[in-house]
Amino acid sequence: MKKGVVYLIGAGPGDPGLITLKGKEILESCDALVYDNLASKEFLSWLPSRCKTFYVGKQAGCHSMKQDQINELLVQLALEGNKVVRLKGGDSFVFGRGSEEILALKEKEIPWELVQGITSCVSVPELAGIPVTHRNVSRSFHVITGHTLKGAQSEKELASYGACEGTLVFLMGLNNLNTISAGLIKGGKPANTPTAVIEDGSLNSQRVIRGTLKTIYEQTVKAEIKKPAIIEVGETAA
Ligand code: SAH
Repeated sequence: MKKGVVYLIGAGPGDPGLITLKGKEILESCDALVYDNLASKEFLSWLPSRCKTFYVGKQAGCHSMKQDQINELLVQLALEGNKVVRLKGGDSFVFGRGSEEILALKEKEIPWELVQGITSCVSVPELAGIPVTHRNVSRSFHVITGHTLKGAQSEKELASYGACEGTLVFLMGLNNLNTISAGLIKGGKPANTPTAVIEDGSLNSQRVIRGTLKTIYEQTVKAEIKKPAIIEVGETAA
């Protein structure tokens, strides 16, 4: 049987209008969809009726499917001759494990194609009115994971980010916000550095909390901010 193809498509930050035309066209003609938690269910309404769907994200209270199993599922579907879409939030390669999936496909000589997505690390702050750079204010931006296998980043790592000029953007950091802000202050960021947290960026439910490194944790607890959320630290957050 002829091998199928796997398309790794980035869905963008949530608003279905922010996927690419190419991504939408491929979704409208695919045979199988493998997807995680998506901010909008509208993507599913674009699929042809023949399309088989496989949800591999976290179920309430349970773990998501293991990466090895996801890789295997993609390989299997392609070997059956399907046009497969692997759809992920944002861009597949920004903390998205897209490259691990491509390595697994390469190993089995499965054809694959990439369709980039708009990553949340720039789009979510921008939609909240916070640019990641601004002339004479922020000359660089740094995208950092706020969650590692051990919890937050180590004190040493956070201190080195605290010493960075420019804007700091933390993804997956909400649970560790207290540690992150304390670590940055310890590393040299002034406690009154403007800091914002954006929940559900690009969706109708979007909420933005603005404060400083010192106040932001308590503000987000008080406002009961939930995931997904992005933390932005730096003058542009003001
Ligand atoms: N590949 C994705 C990021 C995956 S990591 C991308 O390029 O955007 C998941 C993290 O992204 C979340 O924990 C959160 O920090 C951030 N995120 C993604 N979508 C978001 C949204 N709509 N609003 C706020 N944060 C979002």
